Amino acid sequence: MTKFLLDRMLGQTTKWLRLMGVDAEYAPEVEDDELLRIARSEERILITRDKELAKSKGVFLVPKATPEKIIHILLKEFDVDIEPMTRCSKCNSIVESVDKETVKDSIPEGVLERCNEYWRCIGCGQIYWKGTHWEYIMATINNILNSVKEP
Ligand SMILES: [Zn+2]
Repeated sequence: MTKFLLDRMLGQTTKWLRLMGVDAEYAPEVEDDELLRIARSEERILITRDKELAKSKGVFLVPKATPEKIIHILLKEFDVDIEPMTRCSKCNSIVESVDKETVKDSIPEGVLERCNEYWRCIGCGQIYWKGTHWEYIMATINNILNSVKEP
């Protein structure tokens, strides 16, 4: 399955890819040589808007566009598994399902009443639930997936 590394101009796109469950590392602080090194050693496709950088092998150039449009292009080009709520949007680690009881002290009371399913990032500990924002996220993801299916 394709794994990505995104350069500093693509932070929002990185976040959306992770929300879709795609393995997307983000390295805003590092120089081009280091980006290429990381991409090669971790077998990631390096995604950039930098035309010079895109001349290197294993680098994919994307236009200046919205995250939705960029992800549309990536899904057309690469073999990617979409599995929402499997990956942390902050650090790219895997999230695992946890008992409500385990995390209840970290959840706002209003949320606790409404949601029974929770996930926790094994990397940074961030807790996720399908709150009011989730419908917007899924609608956006579905829009992208539908746009990819169109001929
Ligand atoms: Zn995390």
